[in-house]
Amino acid sequence: MRVESVPKPRILHPKDAIVRVTLSAICGSDLHIYGGFIPTMKPGDILGHEFMGVVDEVGPLVTHVKPGDRVVVAFSIACGECFFCQKSLWALCERSNPNRFLSRTLFGYPTSGLFGYSRIFGGYAGGQAEYVRVPFADVGTLKIPDALSDEQALFLSDIFPTGYMAAENCGIRVGDVVAVWGCGPVGLLAMKSARLQGAAEIIAIDRFSDRLQLARTFARARTIDYTQVDVLKALRRMTDGRGPDACIDAVGMEAHGRTVDAWYDRVKQALYMETDRAHALRQMIRACRNGGTISIPGVYSGTVDKFPLGVAFAKGLTLKMGQTHIHKYMRPLLNRILNREIDPTAIISHRLTLNDAPDAYRMFQRKQHHCTKVVLKP
Ligand code: NAD
Ligand code: ZN
Ligand code: ZN
Repeated sequence: MRVESVPKPRILHPKDAIVRVTLSAICGSDLHIYGGFIPTMKPGDILGHEFMGVVDEVGPLVTHVKPGDRVVVAFSIACGECFFCQKSLWALCERSNPNRFLSRTLFGYPTSGLFGYSRIFGGYAGGQAEYVRVPFADVGTLKIPDALSDEQALFLSDIFPTGYMAAENCGIRVGDVVAVWGCGPVGLLAMKSARLQGAAEIIAIDRFSDRLQLARTFARARTIDYTQVDVLKALRRMTDGRGPDACIDAVGMEAHGRTVDAWYDRVKQALYMETDRAHALRQMIRACRNGGTISIPGVYSGTVDKFPLGVAFAKGLTLKMGQTHIHKYMRPLLNRILNREIDPTAIISHRLTLNDAPDAYRMFQRKQHHCTKVVLKP
């Protein structure tokens, strides 16, 4: 990771805008790239899909925003018109990924473009930069009222909607117990969203004491340190022996663990014989109550070994997952921030500059200095 000067992006299509970035963030998803787990990245690629700024320039077909407007930008790129956009399945837009042949080869069908997230997702330059080209600007930008600061609005670009959709995918009924693996930014916002959606109890699982503490204060969660206790037993004890109604995987493909399956994943991932380490996901399939729901916002990129499908089948579990359909959530969640139902800035631990990015990546990956979420000012 390094900071370099590159030419300013230009309008390439009449529906493009150029945004001057005023604030961006590093996401757990960027760590999967940083760790070398996302193929088709090349030296010189610009990362960053969580950003906001001021519109600098617009193409002739952009009508909803104009130069000078303060906007937050959706991390996935959508045309707003295709079969999937019409169905609000924005992250599956079939027109926004110029490299659709790549994603079609891998997934069977093409998926949308993403900012700063490899050629498979379109090869777009990201927003950890001073300027960024935003395709389909009318669809992907949301104007921010003056009442909100940059920091208050920034997480509408990804992690607040991602946490919110993760909770929504649990189909929470009033009184439900929701367990969340991973107390990073996504996990914390999923917990808070589960509360907003009526969960009676949240149980948070991680190994970092500062993050567990945040889960207690930010989302009033009860917490489990998975290095200290047997997670399954602890969850049984906390749920009258039945298990949580829903489990959220806010860990993704780089799960840690000291169990046999976790070591197995580490070795196979290192040897490129398996792409994803799914220890947390396996654990929650066992921990969830019968007939419960597993919601997976955590990113998985390829294949998972020893997947306990038979357990999920026997227990009649529902599994829901995927890239967030972010465009659907940005405006309603902006209103929740305006109404002071949530203050997403509470999870920011480090305010740095773009020049600090290489150190910031290292610190966030290693979870040093109580790092939960880094925001970068150009
Ligand atoms: P993060 O790295 O800050 O947090 C991950 C947390 O998981 C860490 O605190 C880590 O200690 C914890 N963890 C690791 N192994 C665990 C285990 N076995 N049990 C419990 N906890 C464990 O990352 P983040 O920014 O919070 O992102 C979390 C995931 O969400 C990532 O996979 C990211 O790619 C994904 N994500 C998905 C979307 C989407 O659209 N679906 C959007 C944003 C992020
Ligand atoms: Zn992200
Ligand atoms: Zn579309």
